[in-house]
Amino acid sequence: TQGLSRSSKQMGEQITSAFTAKAPLDQAKLDELEEMLIEADLGPHSAARITERFGREKFGKAVDEQEIKESLAEAIGDELSSRQGRFDPLSGPRPYIVLFIGVNGSGKTTTLGKIAADLRSKGAKVLIVAGDTFRAAAVEQLKVWAERSGADFMSRPTGSDAAGLAFDAIERAQREAYDVVLIDTAGRLQNKQGLMDELLKVIRVIKKLDPEAPHETLLVLDATVGRNALAQENIFGNQIGVSGIVMTKLDGTARGGVLVPVAQASDSPIKLIGVGEGIDDLQPFDPRAFARSLVG
Ligand code: GDP
Repeated sequence: TQGLSRSSKQMGEQITSAFTAKAPLDQAKLDELEEMLIEADLGPHSAARITERFGREKFGKAVDEQEIKESLAEAIGDELSSRQGRFDPLSGPRPYIVLFIGVNGSGKTTTLGKIAADLRSKGAKVLIVAGDTFRAAAVEQLKVWAERSGADFMSRPTGSDAAGLAFDAIERAQREAYDVVLIDTAGRLQNKQGLMDELLKVIRVIKKLDPEAPHETLLVLDATVGRNALAQENIFGNQIGVSGIVMTKLDGTARGGVLVPVAQASDSPIKLIGVGEGIDDLQPFDPRAFARSLVG
């Protein structure tokens, strides 16, 4: 499974209680199903499309719980199949430069740490850059991840210029033949324009050393904020440009369905999902497995 325990449980139990007997599928049941999908934050459009398709296939037919789950999983999987992307830094140019963006608390630091650990286990030479120069706690946390994974680490005193740090880091990575550079960034959305300007400056500076970089700009979104994730995708997607989405904390919410409208609203694919706080709790996004896990 993709580790969506709470979402699975909620939708699974709802389907079980709504379809106790094997009865012909009628409009009332279809409406109930649509409501469940909306409650799991799939969004009204996806919920309507999926319910409609299900109705076309099964209306008037006797259906049981298992068939419903299978059909729903298939419909959701189809909705998502074109929204999947691969994150594969080791098959790209060297040093492969990855920028992590997203609001504070979304799971940027943790995701970066998990990726560093994975890359190190494959023998890659990895440089972690603490580009959120305003939060001392974030720098400390990232340093712990660097030590844990055996990646090298660069930071600056609190309040330093993030773009300057990024420049020095990439220069070093080019000089010292690093495979991958993972750059954390600030995420204080209270000062939105200031944040966007800072991120754009970091990107401009990176391009001075490598016009093709950043090779990846991963937007980290927290599934537990539900439909707020859509607004965040909109802001970062429009202002910064995103090459892939990481959706975190899918283990900690019954609203994991929000991945569906985010995937559909975004120009960039979902690449990874976070299903826990541990070092191994990051997975490539698999639309079919995700869909199965979602319906319980
Ligand atoms: P940042 O501010 O964006 O860097 O966010 P952090 O990486 O510090 O994460 C914020 C909190 O969310 C921390 O307590 C993490 O352990 C937790 N977290 C991150 N990813 C996941 C995940 O996939 N599942 C769960 N349950 N917690 C997560």
